[in-house]
Amino acid sequence: MIFFTEEQRQYAKWVREFAVQEFSEGAKERAKLDHVSPEVIAKLAKAGLLELGTSPKYTSRPLDFMRIGLVHEEISKVEFPAMIVILIQYLVYGMAEWMSDELREDLLPASAAGKRFICFANTEPDCGSDAAAITTRAVRDGDSYIISGEKTSISGGMQSDAAIMTAKTDAKAGAKGVTLFYVPLTAPGVGRSMFHDMGNLPAGRASLTFDDVRVPVAFRIGGEGEGFSKVMRTFDVSRVLVGITALALAETSLAEALEYVKTRTAFGNPLSRFEGISFKLAEHATLLEAARMICYKALKMRDEGLPHSKEAAMAKWFAPKCAVDAIHDMLLMYGRLGYSEENPIEQRWRDALSCKLGDGTAEVMKMIVAREMLGGKYGPSM
Ligand SMILES: Cc1cc2nc3c(=O)[nH]c(=O)nc-3n(C[C@H](O)[C@H](O)[C@H](O)COP(=O)(O)OP(=O)(O)OC[C@H]3O[C@@H](n4cnc5c(N)ncnc54)[C@H](O)[C@@H]3O)c2cc1C
Repeated sequence: MIFFTEEQRQYAKWVREFAVQEFSEGAKERAKLDHVSPEVIAKLAKAGLLELGTSPKYTSRPLDFMRIGLVHEEISKVEFPAMIVILIQYLVYGMAEWMSDELREDLLPASAAGKRFICFANTEPDCGSDAAAITTRAVRDGDSYIISGEKTSISGGMQSDAAIMTAKTDAKAGAKGVTLFYVPLTAPGVGRSMFHDMGNLPAGRASLTFDDVRVPVAFRIGGEGEGFSKVMRTFDVSRVLVGITALALAETSLAEALEYVKTRTAFGNPLSRFEGISFKLAEHATLLEAARMICYKALKMRDEGLPHSKEAAMAKWFAPKCAVDAIHDMLLMYGRLGYSEENPIEQRWRDALSCKLGDGTAEVMKMIVAREMLGGKYGPSM
């Protein structure tokens, strides 16, 4: 791809070889678990792939955003459930600059070593797309905050040791009342319950309840009222990474389908000889390539310090759509063999679908793109 430097290409090759060697065996079985395998987390940590920071101030091996994208792509091609862990590690490092020294020193080494699993919690039962409408409260009490409310649909919610979460410190201030906190999920007053999902099963998506949970002021991330803008800034990267992980599932499916259609015959010919098959492969390959270019363009813009909310939102709606559509068509190319748990493609289709929802839906992404193009006066109000 024209965007990548030789160094980035070599890095991608190293991650690809690591993923194939460490995760090929047992990947299909692990995709059915209700948690991310501890062995997978330990291997990622050992390889340094949980230290996804860009600033030399907070990591001994800073990466550019393009390489963080390549980690997501190459690992997700083989071990998709790992995306829950590596995605949050980007978030942890992305927020490091706003953490207190105490929190940073406690959290960064432990999470990079795979010894502390973190989730990110914003969605609530009464608001998802309208992220600023949360009602979870954080009330200052001396050197602590007391947090009460409910977060729902949280990836990694069951397995996590702690959450980075939003709460309102000023209920009347809308987005400007949102503040970020680090909350250990072992604290008294925390409850959890799990959803039974159709895909991305190891995410163990959960509801988390907070009943007067006390956290020290040092666990506030950034200032009071700064949470919403900080979350949006990290979303501008995480949305691209979600798009990339969806593409990874489709890329693996395309590579496998290309081989299958050469070997399966019908009406005296390999399936690949029929335009009904080969044109579909050509169309999906084109769309996946286009989606991949938007994703890496957004990351390159971030590396260059350019605004890229529009490109990130484009990546977030377009890449999962291309991936789900491609996997769907390729599943059908296997005929009856695609409609079976024996074939990993059915799991990939269900996993890719999750990427359409987590971190924001297509409609919300199109609102962002439209607002960026039309401006506040004529664009959608959000
Ligand atoms: C697999 C998965 C993982 C997730 N992980 C996390 C997580 O780790 N942390 C977290 O905080 N959340 C997480 N979520 C929640 C996710 O961010 C929300 O589901 C998402 O933002 C949509 O919110 P909602 O489900 O409340 O839908 P709603 O906001 O109720 O929207 C319902 C539908 O209406 C559409 N809609 C809403 N507003 C508009 C509008 N103005 N114009 C047009 N259409 C509109 C939406 O696009 C959607 O199709 C996850 C969700 C899933 C499914």
